[in-house]
Amino acid sequence: MGTMIKAKYNGQCKNCGSSWAVGDDLYYQKNPKALCTDHECFTEQGGTAGYKSSFQKKERDTIVVKLPEITASDGVKMLAELHQQFFLTAHHLAMSYYPEEDITGDRFGQIRSKIIDQLLTLRGNE
Ligand SMILES: [Zn+2]
Repeated sequence: MGTMIKAKYNGQCKNCGSSWAVGDDLYYQKNPKALCTDHECFTEQGGTAGYKSSFQKKERDTIVVKLPEITASDGVKMLAELHQQFFLTAHHLAMSYYPEEDITGDRFGQIRSKIIDQLLTLRGNE
C-alpha cells in the first residue's frame, strides 16, 4: 500500500521524468516499487490507491459545501446586490492601491476582502 513521504534527496522519476527536491511530497510504495510526485504516474508504476489515510493532509485542502434548500427573500437579494457594489468598488480600489498584484492570486483576494470589510465599517460610521 502506498504512502506519502517527504523526499530526503533531490531526485527524478524514472517513469515520467518529473523531478523533486528535498522536502517535496512524494507518493511512495515499497512493493511493487513506485515513486513519483505525480499521483497518476505513481498509479501507472503499480502504486495502489490504499493511500487515503496517509494523504488526508491533501484532502483537507478541499471543503464540502451543503447549500440549504431555501429561496432567498427580496430583502436578502437587495443585500446581495449591495454586496456586489462593495465587491466591485473594493476590487477597483485594490487594483489602484496594488497595481503590481496578480488579481487572480490569493493575496489579491485577501486584500479585496479586507477592503470590503473596511468599506462596511466606514458605512457604519456614516
Ligand atoms: Zn513519475
